[in-house]
Amino acid sequence: MVTMNARREVVVGGAVAIAGERILALGSAGAMRRRFPGTPELDARGCVITPGMINAHQHCTGDPLARSCIPDDLRPGASIFDWAVPLHGAHSGDDDEISAVLTATESLRNGVTTLIEAGTVAHPVRAAAGLARAGVRASIGTWGWDIDDGPFAAPADVVLERQVEVLDRFPSGGNITGWVTLVGHNLASDELMQGAADLARRRSVGMTMHISPTRSDPEAYRTRTGRDPLVHLEHLGVLGPHLLLAHAVWLTDREIEIILGTRTAVAYCPWAYLRLGQGVSGRGRHAEMFGRGGRIALGCDAANAGDQLDILRSAALAAGLAKDTREDPTWFGAHEAFEMATIRGAAAVGMADRIGSIEPGKLADLVVHDATAPAWVPRGDPALQLVWSADGRTVRDVLVGGRMVVSNGRCLTVDTEEVRHEAAAAAAALLARAGITVPHRWPHVDADELDR
Ligand SMILES: [Zn+2]
Repeated sequence: MVTMNARREVVVGGAVAIAGERILALGSAGAMRRRFPGTPELDARGCVITPGMINAHQHCTGDPLARSCIPDDLRPGASIFDWAVPLHGAHSGDDDEISAVLTATESLRNGVTTLIEAGTVAHPVRAAAGLARAGVRASIGTWGWDIDDGPFAAPADVVLERQVEVLDRFPSGGNITGWVTLVGHNLASDELMQGAADLARRRSVGMTMHISPTRSDPEAYRTRTGRDPLVHLEHLGVLGPHLLLAHAVWLTDREIEIILGTRTAVAYCPWAYLRLGQGVSGRGRHAEMFGRGGRIALGCDAANAGDQLDILRSAALAAGLAKDTREDPTWFGAHEAFEMATIRGAAAVGMADRIGSIEPGKLADLVVHDATAPAWVPRGDPALQLVWSADGRTVRDVLVGGRMVVSNGRCLTVDTEEVRHEAAAAAAALLARAGITVPHRWPHVDADELDR
């Protein structure tokens, strides 16, 4: 049992007792049986148990039904205007729900038990229903922006009113919690930024938005405000422990100090920056911020920006990038990356009092890794093996709040066959409504033609 408690203890031959949604006690299997006789057991002998992992930035709508459709050789902006805008514009409520089901079930099967939803344009209540159906713990938010004449733009007070509706509908305490969720970038007026931060503080909920995955946000802020983005946001009083920024790749030295000084959190999605060619290997300083005590979590971003929903693969990449970009193998490795995926990620999303480690009193979000799988044979150091050797494919069982949601690699909460057919039909209809034809660089040849 890799507890991720304050001493980072790995309990060999241990057992965990669960009552309701919480962890009751840890100890030897014998002692647990004597204390709680007759309790049903999940046999995890030969396995490795970890806390459920945290994905701090995940798009659950927009991309899932167009997965691996957006080409990986587009110019910046083309994926937004040629793909994201028409896709979101054509999304029905049913599309948002099935997209969220797909996202949540795949995440759970990879051992991710908590998702911070990155923002849904049209139907946040339906997206929340999909997340709840799968049984994942998640935030939910509705996107808005109030500058430029772009699609879906609305005045700041209208955007804020929509945020309030989501917070009212999904109060703190449940598995699905409303967060203040802006698009960010340079798509919000100062008034909207300040209103959103005030709302998050007043309601004691998290707030999340994008900033500076590329050089374009710094350039836009400098043109509009004369300041770098985080300097400007600090000036507005928007930063603080309530705020989780997605990306923060292109930062100046001063912006790094501002993030650390204000205790603002960051969701680091390394696969996305590589997939989109955004410069993380030259610019990213997430490991440095983490090493200085910064609140940094991992994310998987979107089904066309990093594509896979496996936080262990993000962890491996975070560790590899940290070592390679400094040409220094002596720092930030598997242990730090797995902290980012669990207890330090939980702290970054403001939930370390409830999740992120296996300790009595915490929610029973647990992952059983099948350590009989080839990636685990023979057994070595658990952190090295989790991050460098294994990935989500060796996850066997998953519990969220004591409820078994994955067993033997199969999701118990939804009929995955049915969802697969439903998603294929919804994807084809969505692309047609959005007027998008998926380009194939390699010609697709009908097999019948080969027979002629
Ligand atoms: Zn995003």
